Amino acid sequence: MHYWATGQCGTFIVREPMILGHETSAVVEAVGCEVKHLKVGDRVATEPAVPCERCSYCRSGVYNLCPDIACHATPPYHGTLVKYFLHRAAYAFKVPDSVDNEEAAMIEPLSVAVHSCKRSGVTVGSRVLITGAGPIGIYTLMAARAYGATRVVLTDINEERLKLARELGADQTILVTKELTEEELVAKVKEAFGDGEQPDISLECSGAPSCSRLVLLATKSGGVAIQVGLGPPNVSLPIADAAIREVTILGAFRYKDCFPTAVAMAASGKLNLKALASHRFDFKDCLEAYKVAKSGAGMKVIIKVTE
Ligand SMILES: [Zn+2]
Repeated sequence: MHYWATGQCGTFIVREPMILGHETSAVVEAVGCEVKHLKVGDRVATEPAVPCERCSYCRSGVYNLCPDIACHATPPYHGTLVKYFLHRAAYAFKVPDSVDNEEAAMIEPLSVAVHSCKRSGVTVGSRVLITGAGPIGIYTLMAARAYGATRVVLTDINEERLKLARELGADQTILVTKELTEEELVAKVKEAFGDGEQPDISLECSGAPSCSRLVLLATKSGGVAIQVGLGPPNVSLPIADAAIREVTILGAFRYKDCFPTAVAMAASGKLNLKALASHRFDFKDCLEAYKVAKSGAGMKVIIKVTE
């Protein structure tokens, strides 16, 4: 959406025409002679970022940090809104019959949520704050639940999104309004966790600077705050408060080795991934699809490329 609207996302800048699309499911049309785990006709979720597999980051397992990673729809690499694309087989994951094509396309954003939960240490009994109830916030809610979080609270400025969050398993939601001061908002978060409690782990999924501040202020002393959403590059943060209370601050970028987990989670049937598919368009109506997505009218807008 950033590329389409502004030609830029974070530090990545579109310098020549680029095909969009990176949350993708596909059907295998052909395989190379050494591919053993896939055959023609298999339905797959494609991990869009393929690393070099040679550098020190790749060799030590943090391949999401590879400087030579080639990612669908990240300049200068084209995306997947095409009838056919070539993909390295090891980054294509077969989905079972119980996962349909729309759900398979959601394995990518679900993997973002799996990565942030793994990285921040969400586990059985975790009390979790998620700021932002957009798609990534909602997938993070699902993933945190799957990892055993016992209390999950979401914040957003949009009551419709919070309603969906409650339907999909949030214990409580907090509507953020302009009238609320930061202090009042922190108090509301503490209240939501009950009796002097605060979140063990806060996952910032909105990219809003006010939320980057909130997660540092609201997380319990010794807890973890992780920045998942991407907003403006420079933000003023209450860093002294976080330091003296030993709040661990983490970043998260994409995912590494999370697709198998996300496929298994989708296959379990326990997640309502479909609840996020708000609009569906044929390929010829791509432009309309992007307009709807940009308007914020829905959650996930599905574009069907093939008949
Ligand atoms: Zn590498």
